[in-house]
Amino acid sequence: MKLRKVTAASAAVLALALTATACGSDDKDSDSGSSGGGKIKVGIKYDQPGLGLKEPDGSFSGFDVDVATYVAKELGYEPNQIQFVETKSADRENALARGDVKFITATYSINDERKKKVDFAGPYLLAHQDLLVKADSKIAAGEDLNGKNLCSVSGSTSAQNVKNKIAPKANLRTYSGYSECLAGLQSGAVDALTTDDSILAGFAAQDKYKGQFKLVGEKLSNENYGIGVKKGDKATVDKINAALEKMVSDGSWQKAVDKNFGPANYKNEEAPKIGVIVK
Ligand code: GLU
Repeated sequence: MKLRKVTAASAAVLALALTATACGSDDKDSDSGSSGGGKIKVGIKYDQPGLGLKEPDGSFSGFDVDVATYVAKELGYEPNQIQFVETKSADRENALARGDVKFITATYSINDERKKKVDFAGPYLLAHQDLLVKADSKIAAGEDLNGKNLCSVSGSTSAQNVKNKIAPKANLRTYSGYSECLAGLQSGAVDALTTDDSILAGFAAQDKYKGQFKLVGEKLSNENYGIGVKKGDKATVDKINAALEKMVSDGSWQKAVDKNFGPANYKNEEAPKIGVIVK
């Protein structure tokens, strides 16, 4: 009896020790976004069908997910070694600065403001800001938004562009994610949702929204998607750029485009050249 007690106690001590070790290596992970344990943490969106989506079964899909998976492989990580982390629009710079993730592939447009805080590899896709409205809406251009309720996401270039140039007199509501904007559009709380056409096409094509929404078809900006890394991590930028070039040249980029944008009938631009930003 006594012996059994001792055994149970040592088992508990052993379990504690194991937990402590696991915690220790987790902490190390979050310093760098990668670890000696062979995992890499990658930031993506969780609510953007066709780009970055967390499926109900816990798996991930989308063009950004496929790009991230290809890049991670080139960095030496198999798909089962990737740990995806949600990085919403307003959280991206901080997630990189804190070392929560090694890189971010999350419809992340390269611009001068962001380049003060993070470095970018790429670009790997050129999208354009557009508007999503109800199928029977009369909104046909950016100017039509003045005086209207418009939804965008905080920390996105789309919200900035509306305030600075597209429709300064629109009633802009900013939410933390695009799914909240979509709910507002469906309920009539907002008249339009603005962000990249790549994202909007993915929403409009969802079975549950079929026929309800339309893209206006305006190219209100150029959004050059880059892969964000921690400021100063030039070695990772160089490796990711090499991976992106290979992804285009071996046909994997086009395959990922067809697979993820095909269902939404999104007509994407051709693959950008690394380091070339379309202003
Ligand atoms: N590509 C734009 C941006 O980086 C809009 C999409 C997003 O919020 O991720 O802000």
